[in-house]
Amino acid sequence: MKRVIIVGGGYAGTSLARALDAAFEVVLVEPREAFLHNVAAIRAVVEPGLLDQIILPYDRLLKRGRVVRERVTAVADGSVRLASGGSLEADFIVLATGSGYAQPFKPVTDSMADFRAASAATEAAIKRASSIAIVGAGAVGVELAGEIAASVRGKSVTLVSAGATLFPEFAPGLGQRLAADLRKLGVTVRMGVRAEGLGAADRPVAGPLRLDTGEVIAADLVIPAMGARPDTAVLTGAPAARFDRLGRVETDGWMRPAGLKRVFALGDMAANGDMMTIVAASRQAPWLAKTLEAVAAGKAVEDLPTYAAWTSPPILVPLGPKRGASVLPVGRNGTVVGPMLTAAIKGKSLFIPRYHKEFGL
Ligand SMILES: Cc1cc2nc3c(=O)[nH]c(=O)nc-3n(C[C@H](O)[C@H](O)[C@H](O)COP(=O)(O)OP(=O)(O)OC[C@H]3O[C@@H](n4cnc5c(N)ncnc54)[C@H](O)[C@@H]3O)c2cc1C
Repeated sequence: MKRVIIVGGGYAGTSLARALDAAFEVVLVEPREAFLHNVAAIRAVVEPGLLDQIILPYDRLLKRGRVVRERVTAVADGSVRLASGGSLEADFIVLATGSGYAQPFKPVTDSMADFRAASAATEAAIKRASSIAIVGAGAVGVELAGEIAASVRGKSVTLVSAGATLFPEFAPGLGQRLAADLRKLGVTVRMGVRAEGLGAADRPVAGPLRLDTGEVIAADLVIPAMGARPDTAVLTGAPAARFDRLGRVETDGWMRPAGLKRVFALGDMAANGDMMTIVAASRQAPWLAKTLEAVAAGKAVEDLPTYAAWTSPPILVPLGPKRGASVLPVGRNGTVVGPMLTAAIKGKSLFIPRYHKEFGL
């Protein structure tokens, strides 16, 4: 049986590990004590009871494979070096080290107690604040504005974005619909303006918020939500690896970084033609599982079909449990749907039952 080391137990790494568990000897290397279902970390700042449901232990994820609590510091064809000083060998190595995000939306350390503390501090700050500004109107910023406005009455919420429209990369109609819904919820949406002199971009800070127009927004609390930062530190010692403008490692058609033949990369850290989403990982992981199975059976990688990224990716953007809008992958440019389907698919349960099942809980 061939051995595969998967570096990183986030959405991409765990999904691939489960897909390979029966046919390979799987070793999943992950420094964190538990998986965080960060999709629900947004609502957790207004509904702290969710924290107990979204921190999931790894011990029942795999039936045959094992999860090693370690950090990988370097990678080469056939082996990885560990922070503790040892190394592990395998036939194939898959990198899935993902990305970081501002607190409290992803963990910034390996301790879940730290994550809980960051989420609780933000919840308390939201409770105290009478006016809140959110900087960044990607999915996290928009959902956060919706969650706060839908659950807490009497607070002024302002969403600030440098972009001219919401979600310009998706089917026309999604951004307009969400902007209108946010306004109905009482959120002030400010497009085409930039925050200046923000105290920190990686955690909530005290206001006010200064804009590049010279205007000052009198917010008590400013929450940055300015996008994911790919984590490719494991490739620091890989001289041929190249990175795109977002910092993701570029890969060939079979998801391999340049200069490596039996090392593959997927998820947020890899520029495989997809956006940095779970939706992307959910397409990439089954493709890579199939490819590794074929290679393990004796096929040459180069004789196998290359990966084709989403051409019209779906996105689900709830504004609290009952509102929101989405693009479903139906038709050439996707199809925009409203609150009923958005709530039924994601808004109500935030996929928590699905991840409980995947983690054997
Ligand atoms: C608040 C929030 C909500 C989101 N909601 C959605 C959503 O609803 N739908 C959607 O499609 N996308 C959503 N996203 C995006 C989604 O979370 C990312 O696309 C996803 O996390 C990417 O998965 P990944 O496995 O590539 O990386 P990650 O989930 O970042 O996991 C990477 C893992 O690698 C580990 N790691 C890092 N370095 C090392 C190392 N050197 N050695 C070993 N392990 C290492 C980390 O500890 C981590 O566990 C959301 C993002 C945020 C921040």
